[in-house]
Amino acid sequence: MQVSANKVVSINYTLTDNSGVVLDTSNGRGPLNYIQGIGALIPGMENGLEGKSTGDKFQIKVSPENGYGAYVSEMVQQVPMSAFGGQEVTVGMQFEAGSDEQRFIVTVTEINNDMVTVDGNHPLAGKELNFDVEVLEVREATAEELAHGHVHGPGGHHH
Ligand code: ZN
Repeated sequence: MQVSANKVVSINYTLTDNSGVVLDTSNGRGPLNYIQGIGALIPGMENGLEGKSTGDKFQIKVSPENGYGAYVSEMVQQVPMSAFGGQEVTVGMQFEAGSDEQRFIVTVTEINNDMVTVDGNHPLAGKELNFDVEVLEVREATAEELAHGHVHGPGGHHH
């Protein structure tokens, strides 16, 4: 069966950056199961998987535009330490920020005396992504899975 909209697809994948550093992998965690065509994966992955079949092994190169977006320097901000209400702040910590309409995660990237630099970009923003992919299984999604927008059973939701 081929990957197309409303199919449940099971894949193994390894994601590397352009210098070959592994950023993410399903190895040791089990396959990723998702529903094709509903925006569960970044556009570049769904496009690259469309039409592939069980057993196919291939590479997908994803541009930032089809991945996690361009790196937006305006999303890097300096915040006074006093804004954190006295809690200990360290580089690498993540906080939720934004308004009720749009919540996003910011990461502390630098601390300089009393100024804290926070970055609201996705960690993979602005990066070209290289996926090694193997398609393990393709099947029809059930009506219930489509209604819920996620995969049920092994490797998916249980409820
Ligand atoms: Zn469900």
